[in-house]
Amino acid sequence: MSAHEDRRALVIAAHPDDGDFGCAGYVMHLVAAGWKVAFLVCTNGAKGTSDRSMDPKRLAAIRREEQREACRRMGVEDVFFLDHEDGELVYDRAFLGELVRMLRWYRPHTVLTHDPTDIIIRDSFINHADHRITGTAALDAIYPAARDHLNFPEHLAEGLETHKVQEVLLWGTNHPNFEVDITDVVERKIAALAAHASQFTDKDDFMRYVRESWRGPDGRYRELFRRFELRF
Ligand SMILES: [Zn+2]
Repeated sequence: MSAHEDRRALVIAAHPDDGDFGCAGYVMHLVAAGWKVAFLVCTNGAKGTSDRSMDPKRLAAIRREEQREACRRMGVEDVFFLDHEDGELVYDRAFLGELVRMLRWYRPHTVLTHDPTDIIIRDSFINHADHRITGTAALDAIYPAARDHLNFPEHLAEGLETHKVQEVLLWGTNHPNFEVDITDVVERKIAALAAHASQFTDKDDFMRYVRESWRGPDGRYRELFRRFELRF
């Protein structure tokens, strides 16, 4: 492992804004601690509107810029887009290969992504199919695909080496075992989310709701993850 892999994290999100909701606070802590963080957004977000006059292609372009701005507000320099069709993500070898390629190229110590385990989250909402597919493919990419030289050997022929991710944090989980106090950065998390202006009809109302949902019983704000280290 080279030195930089110690302090490199990759956020793998299905849609523009998922990573911001899921882990913006923790990401800002990592950036403040000197980590390099990148976002990989798997779909184009082209279905994220109730405005029937909105052209999906135009929306995809808007959402890409919104994600770039949100990342700037988090101190994240690098954002990559795979541009799969929103709502139609398919788990196939090509998609898995894209994630494996990203892991072998960016070489993160830590990956943050969707928990794909359950369809129903906290008995209050449905885990979007794109979220489940992204989380599943990300975990499969971490183990075994990115580590095994016999998986996607064409990457090695291109000069990309196998890579072992050390730590995984899953958001949107029914099984949190890791709590991060984000009280110090909650206003910046709100500001990052506010960059996704196409997603709010009543921004103030929505921000009140999310702020409430991040507040713990002690009045402090937190992000909850299912976290584990890969020992083998
Ligand atoms: Zn989403």
